[in-house]
Amino acid sequence: MRLSRYFLPVLKENPAEAQIVSHRYMLRAGMIKQQQAGIYSWLPLGYKVLRRIEQIVHEEQARAGHIALLMPTLQPADLWRESGRYDDYGEEMLRITDRQGRDMLYGPTNEEMITDIFRSHVSSYKDLPLTLYHIQWKFRDEMRPRFGVMRGREFLMKDGYNFDIDKDAALHAYNRHMVTYLRTYERMGLTAIPMRADSGPIGGDDTHEFLVLASTGESEVFYDEAVTQLSLGDRKIDYDNREEVAEVCKEFTTLYARTDETHKEELFNEVPEDRRKVGRGIEVGQIFYFGTKYSDAMGATVQTSDGSSVPVHMGSHGIGVSRLLGAIIEASHDDKGIIWPEGVTPFHCGIVNLKQADDVADTACQDLYDSLVALGLEPLYDDRDARAGEKFATMDLIGLPWRITVGPRGLKNGVVELTSRRTGESEELPPAEAVAKVAAIYAGI
Ligand code: ATP
Ligand code: MG
Repeated sequence: MRLSRYFLPVLKENPAEAQIVSHRYMLRAGMIKQQQAGIYSWLPLGYKVLRRIEQIVHEEQARAGHIALLMPTLQPADLWRESGRYDDYGEEMLRITDRQGRDMLYGPTNEEMITDIFRSHVSSYKDLPLTLYHIQWKFRDEMRPRFGVMRGREFLMKDGYNFDIDKDAALHAYNRHMVTYLRTYERMGLTAIPMRADSGPIGGDDTHEFLVLASTGESEVFYDEAVTQLSLGDRKIDYDNREEVAEVCKEFTTLYARTDETHKEELFNEVPEDRRKVGRGIEVGQIFYFGTKYSDAMGATVQTSDGSSVPVHMGSHGIGVSRLLGAIIEASHDDKGIIWPEGVTPFHCGIVNLKQADDVADTACQDLYDSLVALGLEPLYDDRDARAGEKFATMDLIGLPWRITVGPRGLKNGVVELTSRRTGESEELPPAEAVAKVAAIYAGI
């Protein structure tokens, strides 16, 4: 993409309404525009990151054999009357009536609808285990929408639902989700810590939230510092192997880590004092096992091998896809702007032309651009007729992890400059080597 032809409405001034850094930078970098309280348009740069995040979510779900579908945003109230949640959900639910006078709602979550799909099409234990998920917009009429996409009213969520023959199988699905989530967040450059949680209105005994540590987080968290050092890395995991998956979960949930809702001072005091940390966290996901709550209420049963009929055991598992943009920025920025982790960056590499309309510089930039594209990368070429300082400020604000700077002086010596946004370190390289280096970085992502 050439910046001169792109739609990147950056703001020079800090918008007064933004209280936290991620919201401020998303507005300044022209990623979102608020349309109503808690409802945003996703401008091209923000939309690009949103799609990269979705892509990682899809890839990690597929790896575990989970199957994508798409349910509508509008749901009939009758389904929610079956589960009893139509009355329970309260004012967060946006209720709508169509022209025939039928009660509908903009889905805040999809347990009822997925259970309806299941009961319509599955009747045998032979079709289990089954995990279906979608990435779809949700609406919750939050009392206090704030912090930009962090607490929106309309927001994008990945929600997945497992259907299993018994509790053991459903707990395996729960564990499997935990591992897929750990991998998903790691690929986004985040440390998200699973913490034991309260089950709230979804109901159920087993539930963990995933929290990204950040001073602006809405939850108070208590944890053993050693938990922040854990990582999956690129180890291979057989998602069908119950013991192996359970072992990984154990590794990530044994050290003390809880939110204020489940915090127990006596247990926390057992953590060595120098590792005992109190801080704040952003909830970027939550997994639940809730047994037969919905299958009982809605008649989702299967025939077992001996011919008897049993309700399926279920769980639901959510990732805050749009909230993740805010969480990633909270975790990765400096005073000049965003620093995207390579896994989610909107463009792989920026190209800054220090002397636009200089034949040699223009040709070198175009060659770099073409070489990067030929390798499957997406560069953003700042070809505007602007001062170098302005170009650098824009690149720093929008946070591309790598920048290649091209100027007549370097070109005379056959080099361009490759700069890391994170460290600020630069090196001079022949253009072909700069391209190879950027390609090598992304080959491992
Ligand atoms: P919260 O406690 O933050 O209100 P929740 O526990 O009600 O969230 P879940 O039902 O667990 O939310 O939804 C799954 C995920 O969706 C959450 O972990 C969070 O990342 C995201 N999410 C929930 N509410 C919002 C919102 N209003 N705006 C953006 N993301 C949200
Ligand atoms: Mg939650």
